[in-house]
Order: sequence, then structure tokens, then C-alpha cells
Amino acid sequence: MQKVGFIGLGRMGQPMASNLVRKGFDLTVFDVNADAVGRLVALGARKAADVAHVVAGADIVVTMLPNSAIVEKVVAGPEGVLAHAARGAIVMDMSTVNPETTDLLARLAAEKGIGFVDAPVGRLASHADRGESLFMVGGSDPDFARVTPLLNAMGTTIYHCGGAGAGTRTKIVNNYLAVTSCQLNAEALALAQRFGLDLDCTLDVLYGTTATNGQLKIAWPAKVLSGDIAPGFTIDLAHKDLTLILEAAQAAKVPMPVAAAAREAYSTARARGFGGNDFSAMADALCDTIGVEKPRLGPTSRHKP
Ligand code: NAD
Repeated sequence: MQKVGFIGLGRMGQPMASNLVRKGFDLTVFDVNADAVGRLVALGARKAADVAHVVAGADIVVTMLPNSAIVEKVVAGPEGVLAHAARGAIVMDMSTVNPETTDLLARLAAEKGIGFVDAPVGRLASHADRGESLFMVGGSDPDFARVTPLLNAMGTTIYHCGGAGAGTRTKIVNNYLAVTSCQLNAEALALAQRFGLDLDCTLDVLYGTTATNGQLKIAWPAKVLSGDIAPGFTIDLAHKDLTLILEAAQAAKVPMPVAAAAREAYSTARARGFGGNDFSAMADALCDTIGVEKPRLGPTSRHKP
């Protein structure tokens, strides 16, 4: 059994690492939040005092951290993963980051004889809880083969998208649609609320035509439409992703005016105090702004999950 180090035990890293422990992996974990580490230790993981200890002796080191700057510091900083990892080890970053960050880390790892895999995570946090995530993976064929048992323990669906960097780039394309569709849904439902339409009937229509989308049909009934706005995936992280998307699009000379508008809608929601809520609460942010009732399914709604 390969020895695995895991850094970043937040809303996503917690269930992902838990699934690795439950499925018998020899896991050592680290997070700046001691409570998060304690929950994994209670399941049987080993606790590391710092990055150096999580990396010591590990065959594969997984990172699941908030953003590009933190990933770069934790992986490539002076006391980071690459400073301590053994030749032949693999670093697998599963965070959503800028492609330039992924390319830099892959290059620095290669210079030290360390493998690098980018394997960002698709689907919702609730899928991660159940070990039903989707992974979009970039890396060489041999590195991909070595991380596959871990991915199988954390999810159900794996796509090898290409060499290092292809996973991150696929994630950016995916999240553009996932995050922007929440803003579209928010505008549509705010308009429906202003019109005084019946929510169940409106959803019947939207789900019955090409207007529908995965957020509206799969995610929202259990989240904002049921009054559950605990993250999930925060508006702050969605805003971070739209910024990554715009930066990557600018670098690639691809105009994305809708992404720019959506990013500023998320900026407005954050400025109004909604940043820590689930990104489905974009509906609440807009309804609050225009002074209409938040969209909620009634107790007998046929759309209640
Ligand atoms: P989170 O903020 O809940 O968790 C991040 C964790 O990293 C926290 O436990 C924090 O304490 C820890 N951390 C921060 N700095 C650290 C450091 N220097 N050293 C060690 N630990 C540190 O975020 P999340 O929702 O788990 O998301 C993680 C990544 O996955 C993000 O890039 C996000 O965009 C992406 N993602 C999230 C979801 C989702 O639904 N939440 C889905 C797919 C991808």
C-alpha cells in the first residue's frame, strides 16, 4: 500500500481524506486548522506537525487548498512539499488553481525528479462526502496509473485529460459554466419572484425545456431552494474561480464578456455579505437586493429532494 500525505482538510479535503482512510490507505494529514486534523486522526489518519512531516516517506502527496497563492507556497515555498519530497514521489494537486501555477509546479517538480499530477474535482461537496466525485486529471501515463487507486477511493468518475496542466484547464472550462449558471439561475428566479409566479410551476417549466441546467435541477432543490445556504462551495470560492477564468482567458486572448459580468455579480454578492454562503445563495443575494422574497420550496413541494 502506498504511503499518502494529505494537505488541506476543508469542506472538500475532509471527506476526500476520510474516504482514503476508510478504504485502508496509510494516510498522514496536515492542515493549519487543528480541529480539521483532529477529525481525520479520529478516523485513523496520522497527524503531521508541518508540511515536512506530512511529506516524509510519502509516495504521493495530495494538496486540496483554497487558491493558487496558497498552493504555490505550500508546494514550492522554501519549507514546501518539493523541498522535502523524495525523488520518485508524486505531488497531486487537486485544488482549483490558475493554469500558470499548475505549469510552474509541474516544471519545478520535474526538475527534482518528482512526478506531478493536477486532478481538480468536479461535482458538489455532497458528492465528495459520498465518495462520488469526478476527477479531471493531467499528468503522464505512469503518474496517472500511480494515482488512480486514490482517485477510485475518492470518486466514481475519472478522466485523463492529457499531460500536466490539462486537468486544471478542463476544470476552468467546467467551472465557467457551473459558476455562471448560478448567476443566470439567480436572475431568472429573481424575475419570477418579482412577477409573483408560483415557484413549483416555474420549475416544472424550466426543468421541462432546454432552459434547465445542472445547478438548477440537481444542486438547487437541496440547497438554496430548501433554505440550506451552508457551503457546499462558497460564493467567495466561486468568485475566485471566475477571476482565474478571466485571467486564463486573457492570457489565451479569448474574450469572455459573460464571465466578466458574472464575476462582478459575485463581487456584489460578496460586498453585501453573502461571500461565506453556498454559491446557490446567489439567488438570495439578488432577491435581497431587489426586495423580493427569497425563492423557497414549500413543505409539500413536488421539487423537494
Ligand atoms: P476550504 O476553504 O473549505 O478548505 C481549505 C482548507 O485548506 C482549510 O481547511 C484550510 O485550513 C486549509 N489551509 C489553508 N491554508 C493552508 C496552509 N497554508 N497549509 C495547510 N492547510 C491550509 O475549501 P474547499 O471548499 O475544501 O476547496 C478546496 C479547493 O477545492 C479550492 O480550490 C476549491 O475551489 C476547490 N473545489 C471546491 C469544491 C466545493 O464544492 N467546495 C468543489 C470542487 C473544487
